[in-house]
Amino acid sequence: MNPFINLGIRHDIVNAISELGFENPTPIQEQSIPVLLRGSNDFVGLAQTGTGKTAAFGMPLLELLDFEENHPQALVLCPTRELCLQITNDIKNYAKHMNNVNVVAVYGGASIQDQLRQIKRGVQIVVATPGRMLDIINRKAINFSQVKFVVLDEADEMLNMGFQEDIDNILSTTPDEKKTWLFSATMPAEVRRIAKKYMDNPFELTMGTKNIAAENIEHEYYVVRARDKYAAFKRIVDNNPEIFGIVFCRTKIETQEIAESLIKDGYNADALHGDLSQQQRDKVMKRYRERSLQLLIATDVAARGIDVNDITHVINFSLPDEIESYTHRSGRTARAGKTGVSIAIINSKELGKIRQIERIIGKKFVKAEIPTGFDVCEKQLFSIVHKVHNVQVNKEQIVQYLPRIMDEFKDMSKEDFITRFASIEFNRFLDYYENAPDLNANVEEGRSRDRDERGASSGPSAFTRLFINLGSVDGFNRGDLLGYICNQSEISGRTVGKIDVKGVFSFFEVPNEDVEKVSASFAGAEFNSRPVRIEVSGEGTSDRRESSSRGGERREGGSGYKRRDSGGGYRGGDRNSGGGRSGGFRDFSGKSRDDRPERKRRVL
Ligand code: AMP
Repeated sequence: MNPFINLGIRHDIVNAISELGFENPTPIQEQSIPVLLRGSNDFVGLAQTGTGKTAAFGMPLLELLDFEENHPQALVLCPTRELCLQITNDIKNYAKHMNNVNVVAVYGGASIQDQLRQIKRGVQIVVATPGRMLDIINRKAINFSQVKFVVLDEADEMLNMGFQEDIDNILSTTPDEKKTWLFSATMPAEVRRIAKKYMDNPFELTMGTKNIAAENIEHEYYVVRARDKYAAFKRIVDNNPEIFGIVFCRTKIETQEIAESLIKDGYNADALHGDLSQQQRDKVMKRYRERSLQLLIATDVAARGIDVNDITHVINFSLPDEIESYTHRSGRTARAGKTGVSIAIINSKELGKIRQIERIIGKKFVKAEIPTGFDVCEKQLFSIVHKVHNVQVNKEQIVQYLPRIMDEFKDMSKEDFITRFASIEFNRFLDYYENAPDLNANVEEGRSRDRDERGASSGPSAFTRLFINLGSVDGFNRGDLLGYICNQSEISGRTVGKIDVKGVFSFFEVPNEDVEKVSASFAGAEFNSRPVRIEVSGEGTSDRRESSSRGGERREGGSGYKRRDSGGGYRGGDRNSGGGRSGGFRDFSGKSRDDRPERKRRVL
C-alpha cells in the first residue's frame, strides 16, 4: 500500500501521485501532512526548495476544501510567475482523479481578462503572485470572504522582493478565522515578524537546511582570473558535451549578455530574466523543458522554484549575493533521486564565500581544475564516438540512400572512414583549443596572483558609504541600484563596494576618490519626478579589506558587471553605453526593471 494512505490522503489523490512516481513521502510531507490535515492550525514550515513542500500543502488543501462549492476557499501566494504556474499545475495533477476541482493561476504579464474569466467561472483554489492578485482585488473581481486557508510559499523571497505591503493588503480581504500556512527557506527577522502578525500559535516544523536532493549533488569550484571567467565557463561546458544545465548570473544584464555571447559563439543557450515579456519567458521555458535548449541562463528570481527534470549541471557563473540562494540554485539539479553537479566559477577573493556556503550546505566543495584544451578535445572526440555507437538508425528512411552512400565510400578503408567521421566535429574543437592557455588562477587560499596582478589588494583602498534616497519601494534591488548609480555617475560597477537596499533609502560604498564625482553626477537628477539626494553616510568610511571580510554581504568586484576587457572571448555589450540589449538604464523612470513587472511603483 502506498504510505500516503497512512498519512490520511484519500485514494483518488494517492492514485494520482503514484502516477507521478511519489512512492514514499518526503520528510516534510511525512511530518506536515497529518498536522495540516487537521485544518485547525496555523503552520510554519522551514523548508528548502526541492523538499516536496508543494505536495505537503497541496494535498491537504484538496482534502480540506469543499469542491461542491464553487467559490475561493484557498489562496496560495508565491513570489514568481513560474512558481505560480508550477504550483497550479502540481495541484491540478494531484487532483487529476477528483471532480469539480478548479484551480486558477493569477500572475502578472499575462492577460488579466483570461484570469478574470476563469475566476468568474468559479474557482476554489487561487494560486497568485501578489502584484496581480492585488490588482484583481482592487477591481473587486474576487471575493475572499470565505477563504479558509492562505498559503504563503517562499515567504522569504516574497519579502525580499518587497511584497510585504501587497501581502498585507491581500490578507486584509480574507477572514480573520482562516488558517495561514507559511513556507520559507530561511527565517530572517522579517519572516518571523509576519509569522507573528498573521498567525496564532503556529505549529512549527524545521526540515534542516538540506533539500531531498542535496545528498546527490557534488559541489565543485574553479578559481579563475576575472578576465578569464567566460572562457573558463565555455571550457567547462565543452568538457561536458551532454550537459543540460542552468547557469545563474547575478543580474539581468549579466544574464542577457552571457546568453547573447553564448549564442554568438554557437551554443544552444537562451536567457530567462524579468526584463523579458511573459510570452518570451514561456517560450524559453518551453524549449528548456522540452530539452531543445541545452543551457538556460537565468537570474535567481526568474528561476526560483523552477522544476525541470534531469538537469545535469547548475553553474554559478556568479555566486549569489545572498549566500542562502546557493542552496536554491544547486537544488535545481539532482532531483528525484538523480545525481548532479553544482559548479561555482569564482575569483580568488570569493574563496571565503565558498567556505560560508560549505557551512550552510554541510558539505565540502571539491576544488576542480579548468580542463586543458587537450582534455576538452578528447572529451568531445569520445562523445562523438559514443553518439555514433548509440545512434538509433531509422532503417526504413535511410535504406534508400545506402547504395549511394556505400558507393561514395567504396574506396575507403574502415579505419579511414571512422577517422574522417570522427574528425568532423573534432576538428572544430581542435582548431579552437589549439594553444589554449591554462585558465586556472593558481592561488593559495587567502593569497591571489590575480589580486596582485590587478592591483586590487595593493594597500587598503578606502571606501566611503553614501546614502541615496531611493530604495526597494522605488523598485530597486541591489543589481538595479548598482546599474542606476553606474549609469548616472559613469563609474565602473567593479569599483562599487557594498550595496545595502532599504525600504525608502539605500547605502552604497564608493572609493574615496570617486565620492565627489558620484555626488556631482546626481546634482539635479530626478527619479519619478522626485529629486535624488546623495549624502555621505554618518557611519563613515570602511576599507575594501574590511568590506571583503564581511563575506557574503559585499559585492565582489570581479564578478563581471563590465567585462569589456575580458580576454576570454566574451563579447558582451557595453553596459554603460546606453545602447545594446537593454537600452542602458534609460527606462528607470518607467517600468520596474526587476523580475516582477506586475508590481506597482510607489512614489514616496
Ligand atoms: P517541491 O519542493 O514541491 O518543488 O518538489 C520538488 C520535487 O520533488 C518535485 O519535482 C516533486 O514532483 C518531487 N516530489 C515531491 N514529493 C515527492 C515524493 N513524495 N516522492 C517523489 N518525488 C516527490
